[in-house]
Amino acid sequence: MNCPHCQSSSTTERQERTIHGFRRFRCRECGRRFNERTGTALNRVHVPTDIMFLVVFWRLRY
Ligand SMILES: [Zn+2]
Repeated sequence: MNCPHCQSSSTTERQERTIHGFRRFRCRECGRRFNERTGTALNRVHVPTDIMFLVVFWRLRY
């Protein structure tokens, strides 16, 4: 996964996860930490992805 801050590909995955279960990374170029949702539009949505999936699922069902 590339760094969302400097676009570097030299990132390392960390052991721990965020409270939402996203993988966390650390950039070896700029030293910043980010997770797999950082920099995406979904990062601003506070609802976890699985709940969003359930909402779509139930809407399709009815
Ligand atoms: Zn970086």
